[in-house]
Amino acid sequence: MAASDGRYSRPGAGICYGRKVFAMAWFSRQKSGVEGSGEGEKRVRTEGLWQKCESCQQIIWKKSLDENLQVCPQCDHHFYLDARSRLGMLFDDAQYSEFDPDLVSSDPLRFVDSKTYVARLAAMQKATSLADAILSAGGTLNGRPVHICAMESKFIGGSMGAAVGEKITRSIERSVERRIPLVVVSASGGARMQEGAVSLMQLAKISAALMRMDEAKVPFISVLTDPTTGGVTASFAMLGDVNIAEPGALIGFAGPRVIEQTIRQKLPHGFQRSEFLLEHGFLDAVVKRPEMKGYIARALNFFCD
Ligand SMILES: [Zn+2]
Repeated sequence: MAASDGRYSRPGAGICYGRKVFAMAWFSRQKSGVEGSGEGEKRVRTEGLWQKCESCQQIIWKKSLDENLQVCPQCDHHFYLDARSRLGMLFDDAQYSEFDPDLVSSDPLRFVDSKTYVARLAAMQKATSLADAILSAGGTLNGRPVHICAMESKFIGGSMGAAVGEKITRSIERSVERRIPLVVVSASGGARMQEGAVSLMQLAKISAALMRMDEAKVPFISVLTDPTTGGVTASFAMLGDVNIAEPGALIGFAGPRVIEQTIRQKLPHGFQRSEFLLEHGFLDAVVKRPEMKGYIARALNFFCD
């Protein structure tokens, strides 16, 4: 705005008298303070060797984290574990043969958001070295033949599109046919938005296949990890003969904010975490990652022998 005495000012830009500019001192001081903190440099120097635990704030040597299956040795906080490591952890000697490795989505809706779905899939495949958000494999667990599917939450949020749904369904059918127990490790944000109704159809398809599995009396163990939400919770993740979760995992259907706004009530502490769900009868057990394989083996002994 122009004042009558020749003075010109606009918000946040200091005040100009003719050509002379008097900058407001606190702006420049604040700027140099933040930029010169050197926090970024510290992070770069220690990257790859140390990791800060987001739960207990301890700095952990990354090698000890790797040896402990990505569980904090100080406070038992469970860090993210990728799908391939998950299979390696559960199968004997990390040996397994993969099923349907080339099954990919066909982009039925020709979906475009900030970029095309085809481009998004290609970028994700490159980043994760996976064809889609799940790995399906067969091998042995403590000597017993099993089929295991492990979801990858870094692949478009571990969302379930047609390829994920089809891989799980085929695993169920293979398990029924060969009478081999199935373990599905979920890590998913739910149905895949980019595939719309096709994605939602997977809920019904997998649930129907699981019903046939139930009739055939072949065991299905569901392992829920952080996060398991939306359509995955609403279908196979909660349909196991045994539903087990890792400690502290976020498990739910809708997010807490949506629920709060709908019921107009404050939600209790720890709502939608494994321990809360176990307490309220939604889960059979909360099992720490290093004990998971032994727990599944005992459950299968109970069902199969
Ligand atoms: Zn910790």
